[in-house]
Amino acid sequence: MTASFTSISLNPALLNTLNDLGYKEMTAIQQQSLPLILSGKDVIGQGKTGSGKTAAFSLGVLSNLNAKRFRVQSLILCPTRELADQVANEVRTLARGIHNIKVLTLCGGMPMGPQIGSLEHGAHILVGTPGRILDHLSKGRIDLSELNTLVLDEADRMLDMGFQDALESIISEAPKQRQTLLFSATFPKTIQSIASDIMCDPEMVKVESTH
Ligand code: ADP
Ligand code: MG
Repeated sequence: MTASFTSISLNPALLNTLNDLGYKEMTAIQQQSLPLILSGKDVIGQGKTGSGKTAAFSLGVLSNLNAKRFRVQSLILCPTRELADQVANEVRTLARGIHNIKVLTLCGGMPMGPQIGSLEHGAHILVGTPGRILDHLSKGRIDLSELNTLVLDEADRMLDMGFQDALESIISEAPKQRQTLLFSATFPKTIQSIASDIMCDPEMVKVESTH
């Protein structure tokens, strides 16, 4: 069964961009997760690489965004710089139809100076690796008081890389009233226990095949 993005309640600017990008039908994980995400539910998504998870959570992030409010409203945590760059690019691409959305990437292994400067200018959406995000947060350079959406992408890999403590510290600074979206290729006990700690009555979405 296929379904078009027009069958869900996305704003017209996002629908136009999806159309321009040639995204016509939703992938399986998008079909299952997007209605839940757009209804404001916490969602756990499990699906293979290439199943379209990035667009699923990015459309949720952008739907929750108030572009006029120049404050950090979404935080997307990724295991590596390469992934954070890919995610940030997809978010920027999908945000093309919305004016002046600032997406900032904050990853370890990159010089601090430019990141500090960019944070002083502000952003709507932060994408980064847990260690570096926590570093900025603990020095008071990130204000999460207006965060509405928290995304953990490739949560299993973040744990494999030893980011559990950093994740927990970051999440303890986030407002309790928020939407949390967690994506993972696998779902070991450690992820289940984190999910039950940080999510509110989450819906599970699992997709075996790519499309
Ligand atoms: P995942 O994170 O699940 O591994 P990605 O989100 O990186 O996968 O998506 C894989 C590719 O599929 C990307 O190049 C993305 O642009 C593309 N894609 C995502 N959703 C759609 C869609 N509905 N239609 C066409 N292409 C899509
Ligand atoms: Mg992905």
